[in-house]
Amino acid sequence: MNNVFVYCEIEDGQVADVSQELLTKGRSLANELKCNLEAIAIGHKLENVGSEIIPYGVDTLYLADDKRLSPYQTLPHTAIVVKLFQEQKPQIALMGASSIGRDLGPRVSSALHSGLTADCTSLVIGEHFDKKANKNYENLLYQIRPAFGGNIIATIINPDCRPQMATVREGVMKKSILDPKYKGKIVNLEVPKYVSDTDFVVEVVERHMEKSKLNIKGSPIVVAGGYGVGSKENFRLLHELAEVLGGEVGASRAAVDAGYVEHERQIGQTGLTVRPKLYIACGISGQIQHRAGMDQSAQIIAINTDPEAPINAIADYVITGDIAEIVPKMIKYYKKN
Ligand code: FAD
Repeated sequence: MNNVFVYCEIEDGQVADVSQELLTKGRSLANELKCNLEAIAIGHKLENVGSEIIPYGVDTLYLADDKRLSPYQTLPHTAIVVKLFQEQKPQIALMGASSIGRDLGPRVSSALHSGLTADCTSLVIGEHFDKKANKNYENLLYQIRPAFGGNIIATIINPDCRPQMATVREGVMKKSILDPKYKGKIVNLEVPKYVSDTDFVVEVVERHMEKSKLNIKGSPIVVAGGYGVGSKENFRLLHELAEVLGGEVGASRAAVDAGYVEHERQIGQTGLTVRPKLYIACGISGQIQHRAGMDQSAQIIAINTDPEAPINAIADYVITGDIAEIVPKMIKYYKKN
């Protein structure tokens, strides 16, 4: 009762990265609130997920295991989560802002009349004084996210409804196992008690998965290009630099919109969130929507003709100049060394 709850997404028998990040965050929130951390995983052949999930400090893991529950299906997954939340009454419920979380979260919150803050970038515990009601609320979840096109950072609270529900984007929070031998318990749910046959309206006949060969999120070095790169052809320079450094190429939305580079390389509020050891921003002005996806990088180098470009304010090293001159010099230098 009144615990912190994380919905764990299962991808091909593995716990999704975003869920592992949320388990880490969930554990720290539970510590602060002095309550338990609980989690749910729904799918098929879940025998091994317990040993993956519990070490994050999960006190109770609920498993709903049934052949028909894999892959994800909207109605049965919603039915199970809604019923479990009605029984367990969590004070906080977290999901990834993935395609699954974005489908499931609003349905669950609507069924529970709880509200939901989507795409949070930070979650902290705080308090709120309601002047009208002359009432102080303690231990509220501050759900923090960019709003109005990223022009403001909004803190959203939900004083009276439970659970306080939020989705969080992948890569925004760090994942870290608490204790490989953590003693949590597993509760196997009796699936027919949670979902009825009529919820299974979709039959998956065949699946075709297109796996991206790109690994921008996992790359230690990202060479990112913006509108200032100027053309698709000029982006070849960035690919060459990335290859020499053993990194990947990323991009701003303006570069993607201009057709210089594929959408799957976009970094920022509506793209990927990365935190590499080194981020080289080439011809990127550094608007807040772009920074939202890269400002946690360990080291940032900005290459820009404009010495006043906003990206320079968060860069560790600034190179003021034209990409067409600087990037070939870098390629030459790193090829030699
Ligand atoms: P510009 O702002 O046009 O900057 C180009 C830069 O290149 C300038 O600083 C210029 O000085 C420099 N330059 C020009 N020529 C050269 C040269 N030869 N050598 C070196 N430097 C040069 N943006 C994202 O990136 N990711 C997102 O996920 C994202 N999501 C968004 C979501 C919303 C709701 C909205 C409203 C916007 C979003 N944007 C996003 C867009 C964002 O606001 C900016 O428009 C975008 O990031 C700008 O891209 P840019 O820096 O490449 O282009």
